[in-house]
Amino acid sequence: MKIEQLDIPPSTIEFLQKNGYVSLYPPQEKTVKAGLLEGQSILVSAPTASGKTLLAILAIIKHLSEKRGKIVYLSPLKALASEKFNEFKKLDSVDLGKNMKIQISTGDFDVSDKNLGQNDILVLTNEKMDSIIRQGAEWIDQISLVIADEVHLLGDDDRGPTLEIVLTKLKLLPQRPQILALSATVTNADEIADWLECKLVHSEWRPVPLSEGVYDQGIVTMQDRKKFEIQTSIRGPPVDLGLDSLNNGGQAILFAETRTRSVSLATKASEAVAKTLNNEEKEMLEKISQKILDDNEHTELVKTLASLIKNGVAFHHAGLNPNCRDLIESEFRNKRIKILASTPTLAAGVNLPARRVVIANVSRYDAKYGANKPISILEYKQLCGRAGRPQYDKYGEAIIVGNSNSDEIFDYYINGIPEPISSKLTGDKALRIHLLSFVSTNPGIKGEDIVEFFSKTLSGSQERKTTIKFHIQISLRYLESEDFVKQKGGRYIATEFGKRTSTLYIDPLTAVLFRKSLENISTKGHTLGLLHIITISEDFFPKFSLRNKDYEFLSTLIENYADQLIEPISEYDCNRSLLAIHSWINESSEIFLSDNFGIESGDMHRMTETADWLIHALYEIAKLEKKDDILTEIYDLRSRILYGIKEELVDLVKIKGIGRIRARILFKNGIKTTEDLSKISIDRLAKIDKIGLVIAENIKTHLKKIR
Ligand code: ADP
Repeated sequence: MKIEQLDIPPSTIEFLQKNGYVSLYPPQEKTVKAGLLEGQSILVSAPTASGKTLLAILAIIKHLSEKRGKIVYLSPLKALASEKFNEFKKLDSVDLGKNMKIQISTGDFDVSDKNLGQNDILVLTNEKMDSIIRQGAEWIDQISLVIADEVHLLGDDDRGPTLEIVLTKLKLLPQRPQILALSATVTNADEIADWLECKLVHSEWRPVPLSEGVYDQGIVTMQDRKKFEIQTSIRGPPVDLGLDSLNNGGQAILFAETRTRSVSLATKASEAVAKTLNNEEKEMLEKISQKILDDNEHTELVKTLASLIKNGVAFHHAGLNPNCRDLIESEFRNKRIKILASTPTLAAGVNLPARRVVIANVSRYDAKYGANKPISILEYKQLCGRAGRPQYDKYGEAIIVGNSNSDEIFDYYINGIPEPISSKLTGDKALRIHLLSFVSTNPGIKGEDIVEFFSKTLSGSQERKTTIKFHIQISLRYLESEDFVKQKGGRYIATEFGKRTSTLYIDPLTAVLFRKSLENISTKGHTLGLLHIITISEDFFPKFSLRNKDYEFLSTLIENYADQLIEPISEYDCNRSLLAIHSWINESSEIFLSDNFGIESGDMHRMTETADWLIHALYEIAKLEKKDDILTEIYDLRSRILYGIKEELVDLVKIKGIGRIRARILFKNGIKTTEDLSKISIDRLAKIDKIGLVIAENIKTHLKKIR
């Protein structure tokens, strides 16, 4: 089917053609024929790169041009949301009868942003949508199209329940919005489609054919049983397979089971890859490597990355900060980086394909089980999804490195059918969180209506009603016992504490911990205690466990700051994240954090993000509990965490453009407060190291605004 045959305005057809779309891919045609442009709700279950984004764009065009209502696009990941936001924003240039307003919002769960409702398209994470529903935003009733991406994550332990609740609530809206649910190929897609009241479009079509195989003892056996030989070396099979692809003109992604292995695979590949580079490539890579050194503190990890990039290889994992990761992704996309060794996080995220994907190991350490566990077939198929670059490759290959067990691997993974998606909503944690939010937004709801609502979730269609009822009763009893909800005559209502917990978007367990801890303090001076509470709370993430060598550091910390504790720190509930955050707010460098705690810049980034959210929640609960004497301390601690600074710099960082480095330099130069800043002349300010005229002027302008 040609794009020009579509029932959308001519200007949008022209726009699509200009953007390289001439005819529809088969799954796209099937979806259009199923009624996408006539408002039909559809679940598309198709492989990665089969063109699901264009379907979203077509539905958006239709809704905008017919002024049907607001459009929400939901993604499980911030990076994916931002990729799609940029894609949809291109529609700005098309005349759709009025100026199209689009906004992305993926953080700050406790902010009721009134302006959000002024947009036509909202690009949100599932969690953000959930928090917007909890805030009771009025514009929800104007939503006419819901595009839900990566819907197969419904079965994910952590992210599944929120997606499930959000979809249940949206599909039940009185105006019954059109739903376009996008999913990887899953076994029980029909069941998911039934639940969502969607038509199912299932397709196995790929723009680049995928061939899967297993490596064993120097030989790769592909799906069609064709075999080929790989030149083996001491670098080991994953790297040999990557180099083999490179020799045939294709890039490779090597999926490693741990961060350490990803670095080691990249290191092993480096010398051989360097030999394949021409002078121009070497020059460019040299510049990229220098950029990494210029923009980051020189931790061992950063130095290793910079030296590897010079040779055309890189590693990619959560220890790297977002800037480094973005740079690696774009340099791999433009083919300067030839081989990328990565942890599996790369598979569920932005679009980053390679000719060959190598799965170095199908086992992975699972912290919940404390042992290695084989990855699921669904997970394996997701990794395969990265194989084959549409513009460059005629085929994609996914090869698992076997170990004398290639027949088993073949049967299980390559011939295997992905596990069906099963709801995780009735887990204790998910249920108490979503029950509280449901009662909170439906004051006075009857017990049987709560059960009725949950029976409309996916778990409701997969489990027996009596089972759900049983789980709900247990959960409600807990919520009542901790004063989150009250019951009278079979009707439930959330208390102030319950409502605030729900809008703060924290787990009730975290709220209880915060409330109990706050009961024990009435005066200032509990920095370590507050950090301890935050880092052990249910919502804190990531938690790094203590290693043997951390105990000495921990006991010194406890000894030195014993008077700051709220409750005793036991080594069982304490983690390395506490040590790292405490060092961070005392201005430790990234090098110190990395060398002493093994905490990298990317880890610190994620920890400060969660800590910032939780300290805000703690502040609000302290307010609710009338703990006015400690509010300033909590408020200042938030800023200390955000910037990684000692208390004496808190005033300076209130000014835009002043972060931990500049604040410290100013302080050393005798400028200790915003008051000092306003007294000093622009010229003198500009002469201070790392300030300069532009920043000095900006500081002065900002000072005027806030004073
Ligand atoms: P998915 O979301 O299914 O993983 P994408 O929507 O990201 O896949 O599409 C993968 C690539 O295919 C993108 O680069 C996209 O521009 C391209 N593409 C999609 N549909 C078409 C089409 N009909 N014609 C040409 N290219 C297309």
